[in-house]
Formats: sequence, C-alpha cells, structure tokens
Amino acid sequence: MNGEKKKRIIKNIKIDVNKCHGCRACEVACAAFHSKPKYSSVNPARSRIRIVKDELNNIFFPIRAGAYTKSECTGRQTYVIDGKDYGACNLCNVSCPARDMFKEPDSGLPLRCDMCEDDPTLKEPVCVQWCLVDALTYEEREEEYEESPPIEDMEIALDDVVQKYGLDKVLDGLARITKKS
Ligand code: SF4
Ligand code: SF4
Ligand code: SF4
Repeated sequence: MNGEKKKRIIKNIKIDVNKCHGCRACEVACAAFHSKPKYSSVNPARSRIRIVKDELNNIFFPIRAGAYTKSECTGRQTYVIDGKDYGACNLCNVSCPARDMFKEPDSGLPLRCDMCEDDPTLKEPVCVQWCLVDALTYEEREEEYEESPPIEDMEIALDDVVQKYGLDKVLDGLARITKKS
C-alpha cells in the first residue's frame, strides 16, 4: 500500500557573502516586482530580501524572508565581536512581532520570499537577475518523494481489518488509541 514515487523541483538561492557589496539592487528589484501593478513602485521596505550591513567592517549579508511566527522567540543571545554588539535577530529571516523587518509597511502583513512565482515562470528570480556580482545564484534540484496512498486504498485496507477482527474490536482499539493521545 506504499504511495507512488514522484519527483518535485526544489528551488534555492545560494548566497556568497564575500561577493555582496551592499548595492541593494536585489531589494529594489524584489520590491518593484512585487508591487501592484508590477513595477509600478519601489519601496525596499516591501522587499522580501534585505541586506543586513555593518559598513565600517565591510560586512553585507543578504537575508530572504522566511516563515511568519506569531510570537518572538525567547532567550535570544547577544554576541560582542570586536567590542560591537550583535543581536541574534540580525541574521534571522523570520517575520515576527519583535521587529518591523519583513512586514508590509502599510498593512503590517508578513512578507515571505515566494521565489518570484509568476506565469510564465521566470528563468531566475529577479533578485538573482539583478545581482550583477553573483552574490546570489539560483539553483534547482530534483527530489523524489512518496505520495500518500489515495483514500480509496486506505478504505480497502480498513475493510480488510474490519473483516478480519470485527467492527467492535476495531472501534475498541481506536478508542484506546485516542485516549492515549
Ligand atoms: S526576529 Fe528575533 S525574536 Fe523574532 S524569531 Fe527571529 S531571532 Fe526570534
Ligand atoms: S526570490 Fe523573488 S521574492 Fe524571493 S527575495 Fe528574490 S526577488 Fe524577492
Ligand atoms: S544585488 Fe547582490 S551585491 Fe547587491 S546587495 Fe544584493 S546580494 Fe549584495
């Protein structure tokens, strides 16, 4: 009763921090692409990629918006490097109540990188296209996964169990399992 093996494409953007020089073209491109109508405005606060920077030390770090969480995490650490404080939030890609990053500035709704899903599909996400120094590179890989058995298969299996043990025993067993959990 195993599920059918299928293939899906996993999309990723690799980041090379050493190549990023903080030009913010990726922010601008992302914000413009996601404005409505497309390319009608540019507000980097709406971008799903942001550059965290420490200009004095020539450090630029692109972060893509990830999942939304309702609560900020606790026990955040602070690091002191060369006498400068770094909070754990700096490199976090989550949209959470602790800060304004990755929130739509007008509505406050969370923003998340959608890999520039479009119809027709883009060859590469726009942030990658506009990163002229290849600090961002797009890659795809194929992954095999097992699809859950269709409902009809489960019904056939359940029928077999009921025929073998009787409906009462099956219901008893289910009641016990439900109590335990
Ligand atoms: S932004 Fe800060 S508080 Fe929010 S999830 Fe990330 S690390 Fe935790
Ligand atoms: S992949 Fe698209 S949505 Fe995601 S950060 Fe880049 S431009 Fe924005
Ligand atoms: S476009 Fe490339 S180099 Fe410029 S800030 Fe974005 S990641 Fe860095």
